Amino acid sequence: MNVLVTGGAGYIGSHTVVELLNAGHEAVIVDDLSNAKADVIDRIETITGKRPAFHQIDCADGAALRRAFASCKIDAVIHFAGFKAVGESVRKPLQYYRNNLDSTMTLLEVMEEFGCKKFIFSSSATVYGPNNPHPYKEDMPAIQSSSPYGWTKVMIERILTDYVTAHPDFCAILLRYFNPIGAHESGLLGDDPNGIPNNLMPYIGRVAAGQLEKLTIFGGDYPTPDGTCQRDYLHVVDLAVGHLKALEYAADHTGAEAINLGTGHGISVLELVHAFETANQMKLPYVIGPRRDGDLPAFWADAQKAETILGWTATHSVEDMCRSSWEFARKSAEQ
Ligand code: UDP
Repeated sequence: MNVLVTGGAGYIGSHTVVELLNAGHEAVIVDDLSNAKADVIDRIETITGKRPAFHQIDCADGAALRRAFASCKIDAVIHFAGFKAVGESVRKPLQYYRNNLDSTMTLLEVMEEFGCKKFIFSSSATVYGPNNPHPYKEDMPAIQSSSPYGWTKVMIERILTDYVTAHPDFCAILLRYFNPIGAHESGLLGDDPNGIPNNLMPYIGRVAAGQLEKLTIFGGDYPTPDGTCQRDYLHVVDLAVGHLKALEYAADHTGAEAINLGTGHGISVLELVHAFETANQMKLPYVIGPRRDGDLPAFWADAQKAETILGWTATHSVEDMCRSSWEFARKSAEQ
């Protein structure tokens, strides 16, 4: 299949492009590089021996997107591109709604013009909102979120569901990610955000590399076994493989389908810190600080539907996640 991957130079996008190329598909990357680096394309080539086509464009730019679609027959789209910083979205809601919604709707319009009917969307566990009990199941109401970023995921899921109702021959898979961490085994691809990381694992990586002094754990008084928040961390390569499975499923199905991608197990921030220390034989300086606004105490996936429908389960261990994260952070710090 020829697969157009928006945000294909980003953290999850680049790992997914590697899996696509390794499985014999062709990938066409669309990325404006607003939060990714151009050399990711070279790194993908180093890993796979194949160079994906690359268009440096904003996917809200319909004319540019049409040129990308005209470059070869696109069979399916995987849509990662979007602003994704929760805190920033609270300060700049209009930018988030404009960018994330516009790019998705433009993409759907251009897909319609070119007769492309397979869409894999990068959604998030944030759509389950604060009121559902965990583990989260796909048939729970997913109509609420706690930040403008999260609301864009809720709204895009709605847009895609309504689009499918109007176009019954279209297939939209809404992949609800839990907490992807880890990096490619080559050490060439990983989570390398600009500035000070918001997410836990890239922050740990910078502390381990000595670029940041210590980790602050947000809250030690949650109603969890050790007082720190619990999340469902999964390896980014498992997540990337999940997209490949979703693509295979979409190829001979229609309709809208929400599917969780998680391991089905929660671990706490402290457990992850200690797993990182053990896997990499080091001590990680940390302090317990105040809670971060908007964090939920605990949630993880019910991962059954992905297994039943896609034949997908996460296979990497927490140790793999910690080791590969450190390998990538160490190499990045040396550059
Ligand atoms: N976290 C933390 N210190 C940090 C960053 C994150 O203690 O510097 C905690 C955060 O409170 C949450 C977990 O790590 O419990 C995962 O946070 P992250 O931002 O990575 O993902 P989220 O679950 O918020 O999407």
